[in-house]
Amino acid sequence: FELKADDLKDLQELGQGNGGSVKKVEHIPTGTIMAKKIVLIDAKPAVRKQILRELHIMHDCKSKYIISFYGAFLADPNICICMEFMDRGSLDGIYKKIGAIDIDVVGQVALAVLEGLTYLYDAHRIIHRDIKPSNILCNSRGEIKICDFGVSGELINSIADTFVGTSTYMSVCPLLLAFCAAFSQCAQYTVKSDVWSLGISLVELAFGRFPFAEDDSDDSDLSDLDGTLSPGRPPPSLSLASPSLNGANGLANGAAALESARQARREAKEKKQKRDKRKSKGVSLQGGGMTMSILELLQHIVNEPAPRLNTGPNGEGKFPKMADAFIECCLLKDPDARWTPKDLLKHEWMDYSRVADIDLEGWASTI
Ligand code: ADP
Ligand code: MG
Repeated sequence: FELKADDLKDLQELGQGNGGSVKKVEHIPTGTIMAKKIVLIDAKPAVRKQILRELHIMHDCKSKYIISFYGAFLADPNICICMEFMDRGSLDGIYKKIGAIDIDVVGQVALAVLEGLTYLYDAHRIIHRDIKPSNILCNSRGEIKICDFGVSGELINSIADTFVGTSTYMSVCPLLLAFCAAFSQCAQYTVKSDVWSLGISLVELAFGRFPFAEDDSDDSDLSDLDGTLSPGRPPPSLSLASPSLNGANGLANGAAALESARQARREAKEKKQKRDKRKSKGVSLQGGGMTMSILELLQHIVNEPAPRLNTGPNGEGKFPKMADAFIECCLLKDPDARWTPKDLLKHEWMDYSRVADIDLEGWASTI
């Protein structure tokens, strides 16, 4: 059926991301419940039409590991994308609600995401580009599916332009922005970048927190990432010229590192919002503590060892060896050495997960 704005009735706000918001809606003529994503695009009409054409590919993306697509339309100045509604929401919301996710369930998530990524790549030559817990969705049937993949090159560009144009750190530090743009340009985005993001996401689910934040307590996290260069703080010396960032390996890791840095930034922002909320309720929380700029974080990711399940404050020996080894294969910094989704599907942990008797439907009913 043809989708029209007038036929959709808003039911509930599901969440907000960088580029827009998502609402639960009903398609009145058919009674179908959908998720409607509204993306604000600052682009010329010709570009918008091109985006719509490109989004059409989503009609052909048919897999049980991929959110199905109902259609997209222009609603000036927005683009609306209507997709399958997943009634248990995204995995970030789930772990924030119920805490760290059982490693056997994380194994099922890995399996579903890898199947989804492999399908997208083999059938359509699509690289996801935005694997993170909020783009992995779950429903009460216990199905796990991925959404928000990069089908439309034009849409990716437009969101990037819109984001760049309005982002607060632009005004703070044009140099940093120019660097980030150059960094992500040089950095070739490949299926291996998706694998890096998958590894980070799985650790996040298993720990119940984003693995790059040093400390979980509310007053010592990456509080000022957004401001990046707080007043009175010297700009980070451009020790960016550090060999590992400049070396071919560093650059090839750029996209993934940048993605993790963005994730951390988003995370920090959320925490800050929460904290601000609490402050306004009169609870005083000390500020201060560690502040890390996005640049420092980027350096940290490039220079420090990748996160592992069984090291660090939460993990020691707690998780099955197979899972730990799997994560290591996802988080190899050298993209040539890092496994592909197809390799990973043959990993021992995935063989185990495929035959393990995990009741996802039962699990979903506990959310
Ligand atoms: P982000 O993925 O960066 O959080 P989005 O705008 O893509 O931002 O999505 C916002 C939120 O809406 C997500 O975190 C997710 O919880 C929810 N959401 C997105 N798509 C769906 C869907 N198809 N069904 C149910 N909830 C969804
Ligand atoms: Mg999303």
